[in-house]
Amino acid sequence: MEQLAAFNPRASLAELHRLRIQAQVFGEETDCWLCHRHADPTYDGTTHPWSRTVDQTRPLWLGGNPYERSNSHLAHRICRDMRAAALRGQA
Ligand SMILES: [Zn+2]
Repeated sequence: MEQLAAFNPRASLAELHRLRIQAQVFGEETDCWLCHRHADPTYDGTTHPWSRTVDQTRPLWLGGNPYERSNSHLAHRICRDMRAAALRGQA
């Protein structure tokens, strides 16, 4: 029963939505929407600064929907992080 108690169906559903949007974005876009340069899909997505990530045009904390395709675009990890820092600096 402890295993069942640890299972969080809402978190799992959110993760499924995130993976679905990511697959769509990675399948349809090849260039970073911020710097317009190619994003190499072979770079490690969890650590490499020039790897591919999904960025939201309107971030979640500004009311954007992270699961909406029209709000989601391919970005380099470093470009996404620099934009997020700049946006937060303005807030
Ligand atoms: Zn970029």
